[in-house]
Amino acid sequence: MRISVIGCGYLGAVHAAAMAKLGHDVVGLDIDEAKVAELAAGRAPFYEPGLPELLTETVATGRLRFTTDPAEVVGARVHFVCVGTPQKRGEFAADLTYVDAAFAGLLPYLTAGDIVAGKSTVPVGTAERLALDLAPTGATLVWNPEFLREGFAVKDTLHPDRLVYGVPAGKPGEDAKAVLDEVYAVPLSENTPLVVTDYATAQLVKVAANSFLATKISFINAMAELCEATGADVTGLADAIGYDARIGRKFLNAGLGFGGGCLPKDIRAFMARAGELGVDQALSFLREVDSINMRRRVRMVDLVREVCHGSIVGRRIAVLGAAFKPNSDDVRDSPALSVAAQMQLQGAHVVVTDPQAINNARKRWPDLTFADTAEEAATGADAVLLATEWAEYRDLDPEKLALVVNEKRILDGRNVLDPAAWRAAGWTYRALGRR
Ligand code: NAD
Repeated sequence: MRISVIGCGYLGAVHAAAMAKLGHDVVGLDIDEAKVAELAAGRAPFYEPGLPELLTETVATGRLRFTTDPAEVVGARVHFVCVGTPQKRGEFAADLTYVDAAFAGLLPYLTAGDIVAGKSTVPVGTAERLALDLAPTGATLVWNPEFLREGFAVKDTLHPDRLVYGVPAGKPGEDAKAVLDEVYAVPLSENTPLVVTDYATAQLVKVAANSFLATKISFINAMAELCEATGADVTGLADAIGYDARIGRKFLNAGLGFGGGCLPKDIRAFMARAGELGVDQALSFLREVDSINMRRRVRMVDLVREVCHGSIVGRRIAVLGAAFKPNSDDVRDSPALSVAAQMQLQGAHVVVTDPQAINNARKRWPDLTFADTAEEAATGADAVLLATEWAEYRDLDPEKLALVVNEKRILDGRNVLDPAAWRAAGWTYRALGRR
């Protein structure tokens, strides 16, 4: 099937390549010329495991191309809209400028029978409004939220854990479902669960899922605060409650909390939308979820100060990790960089390292110092903070790292190191929510 993908960022580039891999004929459209040039050459403009190989393979088949010319979407049966929906400046609400521009740009090229599938995360009610704009063209709108995880985006797109279609009532909805079933024929043949629903539910599914995940993380981080006040150990607590199958151990890792381009802005946009709908009380708990999350960053700076005997002024602090999570170069609202920047502002000399995200981090925080490796960052450090749990930082050898630091102080911002091993090597080990 001929498909267009509008917006080729973390979501759209992977979606475009994955659709080509599934056998479709795909054109990816973006307004960013540099990004399009990279993608057209079969190169990934950001770090995502498996994407370079997938791009090389699918661009070579001739079934995947990229363009900045909107007219090239003509002839596609399905148009996936994957543009960004960041937080508005100074407000909690989502900025829909890019979605509105993408739809406005698409309208002149649509013909009757086309399907426009919204994948961006939008406030509930957006699809209903956009469907009215599309009506005169004879195209049908479907809301098809995306659940991929950065770091696993290729696998998640080729083998999703579920598919959700928000379709209009009646024949247009049935026809649109049939077309999307054809697009996703391969994952559907693997028994991927499919939920076919209305626009409102489809839009809510995405923000509800992210709100639940954010709540689970903030729940364990709230328990970490209790553990800190009582001398209990949050990792043991998480293990013990996680054995209850109704609770589960996933997303119960206490630490620096969540960040990135989705969870923080999605829960805030959800709260803003609930306010507009007159049901703000229903989501007032998300304000607390957000506050707990942000408090962890402040607490981490305090903990670094504590291990440095009350002051970080003039101290050299190594921060291992800049990406908001491992296996990604995405630094949007990264807890690691937020803590690094706070320490720098408070007078520390902060040296940040990351296996993939240094370039993005430098663009956002040019005042920080960056090093290529953990050893380089830790050289002469008065404290080392593990802020993003990349495998290579989890596997660091405490004996070896001890040789380069000024003071053997390790702060485990993700509760992934073995405290006994680090203490045995002479380090002062501290973590959030642990003795
Ligand atoms: P992104 O910023 O990486 O990508 C957005 C892309 O859209 C950019 O390349 C931008 O140049 C392009 N763009 C903007 N306006 C355009 C236009 N008018 N025409 C064509 N291209 C245009 O953002 P992202 O992380 O890919 O997120 C996109 C959407 O997907 C958001 O709503 C996000 O919440 C949602 N989402 C993201 C993820 C994720 O893990 N990143 C997962 C699920 C859902």
